[in-house]
Amino acid sequence: MSNIGETTLEIDLSALEHNFKYFKSKLNPQTKFLGVVKAFAYGTDMVVIAKKLEALGTDYFAVAYVKEGVLLRDAGITSPILVLHPQPINFGVLIDHCLEPSLYSPRILKLFLEHANEKKQTHYPVHLKFNTGLNRLGFWENDIDYILKTLDARNELKIKSIFSHLAASEDQGEREFSLTQISTFKKTANELKEKVDYSFFRHMLNTSGVLNYPEAQFEMVRSGIGLYGYGNHSEIDKHLKPVATLKTSISQIHKIEPGESVGYNRGYTSDGYRVTATLPIGHADGIGRQYGNGKATVIINGKHATIIGNVCMDMIMVDITHIDCKEGDEVIVFGKESSAESFANSSGTISYEILTAISQRVKRTVV
Ligand SMILES: *Cc1c(COP(=O)(O)O)cnc(C)c1O
Repeated sequence: MSNIGETTLEIDLSALEHNFKYFKSKLNPQTKFLGVVKAFAYGTDMVVIAKKLEALGTDYFAVAYVKEGVLLRDAGITSPILVLHPQPINFGVLIDHCLEPSLYSPRILKLFLEHANEKKQTHYPVHLKFNTGLNRLGFWENDIDYILKTLDARNELKIKSIFSHLAASEDQGEREFSLTQISTFKKTANELKEKVDYSFFRHMLNTSGVLNYPEAQFEMVRSGIGLYGYGNHSEIDKHLKPVATLKTSISQIHKIEPGESVGYNRGYTSDGYRVTATLPIGHADGIGRQYGNGKATVIINGKHATIIGNVCMDMIMVDITHIDCKEGDEVIVFGKESSAESFANSSGTISYEILTAISQRVKRTVV
């Protein structure tokens, strides 16, 4: 067994390529593909992932905030970048870096227009987000007249696309709701099309949307989680490969007597003779307290070892009573051998959360 030295998140670019091609195969050839790389590309490495996706032919990128887009520009990414949730204080920086904002409310539209005017922009590309039922961000359908009145006779901005976001794209039980969102979006797009004298494109689908509502791919789709190997469904996951594998190693092994406790606040009390391994990864690395006390497991020499007691800041202890292993042996927290989705599900959360929680303290390596 190799001693990997320190806790590491391995990033597999061939897995990324595999997943990208899988999603491309679900789309019409002319449909544009936007790769969502917000939150360090779902906890991996934003620059490494974006460069690979750009080389593979990704048309567009999306990030949540301006500083994420700046990171991509500074690394030499030249593709268009949509900023999903830009903060007005960063609008100047956004324009300086040729990032394209999502404008989602009358307030944001007005503030961005002022910045574009100050910076003497003409036809600056913007993306209008409409709320069709998620009730998170977005103009309402009846804001169209306000938008057009605001933009009328001004040339600072150009509507490059309009978009919306499904509330429950992975949930077949909410199919009717999703279809209503899609038809509301279509209606909004048609109304705007009639009133704007140039063309813009439309997009609505995230990863699960692509899989469940391919008829609503319009001119572009936006995929995040699927690129990283998770499809919100076990049948889909069979076709995908996890990009990130989180590895660590055993620091120390202890023999625990019956009745002894393990960890802070004596979170675990042994009911018999136990063997535990202490691992150099804790809540400061992204393993939240909800994973402790018998919930999540890690893999050691092919076998599951349960986290016992409370998760510490820099360590966890796992039960290895039934596992043949030694100090220095490799440990897989999640990845190819055991998915981030099942690790997350063991403790009541989802792959998105555990992936994006892995903190910047954890070393990233590309394989
Ligand atoms: C994060 C995000 C996506 C990507 O969703 P996935 O489920 O990861 O594919 C798409 N669109 C918007 C608006 C988002 O915020």
